[in-house]
Amino acid sequence: MQIVLLASGSTGNCALIEAGRGDDRVVVALDCGIAQRTGRDLAADAGLALTSVDAVLLTHAHADHSANVVAVAARAQAPLYAHPEVIDQRPQLRASEIARRRVELRPYADRASFQVGPLRITPIALPHDAEPTHGFVFESQDGQRAAYFSDLGRPEVLMEGVLDGVESLVLEFNYDPEMLENGPYPPHLAQRISGGLGHLSNDQAASILREACPDSLQQLTLAHLSRHNNRPRLAAEAARAALDDAGRSDLEPRVAPPKGVVYAGPAARPRV
Ligand SMILES: [Zn+2]
Ligand SMILES: [Zn+2]
Repeated sequence: MQIVLLASGSTGNCALIEAGRGDDRVVVALDCGIAQRTGRDLAADAGLALTSVDAVLLTHAHADHSANVVAVAARAQAPLYAHPEVIDQRPQLRASEIARRRVELRPYADRASFQVGPLRITPIALPHDAEPTHGFVFESQDGQRAAYFSDLGRPEVLMEGVLDGVESLVLEFNYDPEMLENGPYPPHLAQRISGGLGHLSNDQAASILREACPDSLQQLTLAHLSRHNNRPRLAAEAARAALDDAGRSDLEPRVAPPKGVVYAGPAARPRV
């Protein structure tokens, strides 16, 4: 299994999950809040095709995640897995639009695992100001486990066993509290981001690693960094300190850029 990040942050998010081999191989698009053309080019950089994914999976209705999910599903003639309550939250997610584009909608529910080919997917509800928002745990047939958690305002939900056995983790490190406070954002926006339904600060994300870094973890990728209120160096330092505290000095956190291919693990890319 491999998580391939193509874009990460408020200018758009898109990832591909690749699992299985041969006839069993599937590629799942996780969110598409970037232009389709950009997504196609970035996927091609990774040797993958956004136009032939086997399924599309949506975390939540915010445009930086959802803008083009229906278009990608329509183009690939792939089903769209989404929580039923995100439907109709935006024009692009209207039930009528999904029907018009002949996209098959497959609703998922919190903590109810479902299968896409060899890939087992478990949605986990997250506290965020687009209700509902979900992160996901992915499990391959050979027992590899990866997780993708972004867009959450409080860290606690990830400290209750959700990360057990995870080998590869993509985790939001959104903002540095000092930069947010002294940055360009008006107070109401800064409050929304730092509130319990906003985004994880570097410190909050680091607290997850301190409290709940699983022994199984082999790869850590810091995602959804704010362009205005964070720096890759600050996020990486916060993660580094937390990993050291957790006795995991062996792990080297990586930072996902706003756009560009990052192989976030857990495995070396399967040869197909
Ligand atoms: Zn977002
Ligand atoms: Zn969001």
